[in-house]
This record gives sequence, C-alpha cells and structure tokens, in this order.
Amino acid sequence: MKSRMKLAIAPWVALAVTASAAAAGSSVHWEYQGKAGAAHWGELAPEFAACQQGKAQSPIDIRTSRTGTSVPIGFGYRASSAEIVNNGHTVQVDLADGGGIEVAGATYRLVQFHFHTPSEEAVNSRRYPLVAHLVHKSDAGELAVVAVLFRQGRENAALASVFAGMPATAGEKHPAGTGFDPTSLLPTRRGYYGYTGSLTTPPCSEGVRWHILKQPVEVSAAQLAAFRKLYRMNARPVQPLNGRVVLVNP
Ligand SMILES: [Zn+2]
Repeated sequence: MKSRMKLAIAPWVALAVTASAAAAGSSVHWEYQGKAGAAHWGELAPEFAACQQGKAQSPIDIRTSRTGTSVPIGFGYRASSAEIVNNGHTVQVDLADGGGIEVAGATYRLVQFHFHTPSEEAVNSRRYPLVAHLVHKSDAGELAVVAVLFRQGRENAALASVFAGMPATAGEKHPAGTGFDPTSLLPTRRGYYGYTGSLTTPPCSEGVRWHILKQPVEVSAAQLAAFRKLYRMNARPVQPLNGRVVLVNP
C-alpha cells in the first residue's frame, strides 16, 4: 500500500515544500534535540530571534491555581477534503474547508491540524503522550490554536483514518479523502485553559491565542507507536510564563 502511494508522489510535492518554506520566511534547518535543537532555535537565524528573546512563548506548564474566567469556544467544524503531509517535523492534515471557531466575537477558519509527542503543554507539570494542535486563522491573519490532549486508552476512531494514511517520508503528501470532520477529534466537554503565547516551532511568532481543552480523549498504544515510529519526540520544552495569566472556562 505504501509503495503504491509513493509512486503517486510527483515532483510538485517537492516544489510545494520549498514554496511553503519560502513563504514561512525561512528554510533554515531545525530539530528538537542537538545542535539545531530547541535550546538553540533563537541562534539559528535572525528571523528565529523570538524563540530566544520572546517573553510570551509556548508551550507552558498550566498550573490550575493561576486561573480566571474566559468565554466558551463556538465550534463550527464541517467535513472537508483533506491532505496528510509529513513535513519533516510532524504529521499535518491540511483541510480545504473544515469550518472554524468563534471566540469572543472573533471568527477563525481551521487551516490544519498536526501532532506532537509527548504533548507540548503540561498541566500541573504533567505531559500527556500526544496532543493535536488545530490551527485557525482569522481574516486579519491572527492565529488561534485549539489543543486536544490524548491519554493512552482505547483506539481513537477519528485518528484511525489519519494515522492509516501517514506518509513515512518527509515531504510526502497523501490525500485523505473528502469526508473528514474535525469535530470527531474533540472531547465531549469543551472547557479549556486559555492564554496568549506563540508558535511552538520556529520562528516562534507571538500573539497566538491558545485554547487547551481540559478533557483529554483516548489514543491506543498501537496508534501512539505508529506515530512515534515517524516522530519519536517532537515537543518543545515548556517556556517561562513571565506573568501571563491562564484563564479557565468553565
Ligand atoms: Zn503544534
């Protein structure tokens, strides 16, 4: 099955990867550990300076004692055609028209979701084995991320279709059909921890609104192993809070 899909990979895939790296302003190589690892991102390129000098970085360790109140998230996701991409740092699902969210009167369109193991965000110093980051963008270009935490348990049906199509090689893309509804990734309860932070990968740009759903969903040991076969560890260490307040809803 995999080798058959490999045959379908055309030169435009490589072109698309180059173009997206250029669009992001950099094609500088970075990793999670070692010389180009998270401790050195800020030194790798001038445009990565926020990774080192930023004062509102992500992820963070969420201490439930530092909480206030916030408004609920209105979820309006819908089934969309999707494409599964191995981008060299994670497995990402790009959605053509997956709907979006509304928070405090602002609307954000769901652009993509991707995974980190272990979860980048910690809750009371505890990290989960996996997290999905659902990345949304407003018309003004503002970013809002919803994080879904996974604890080990039963097989996750929503992940099954995504993980079955994970491309093994960086730069590969596979179509994921036309009927993926991101709602299937969400837990039943939608309460969340909210704070303002950054992208957790270079260039670590700030001003990102984070919403970490409190209720975890389940992922099986086999599903975790399948993801970790591609990415054993792709989580940035937690960053200083620097006086930021985490709001909790409800
Ligand atoms: Zn992420």
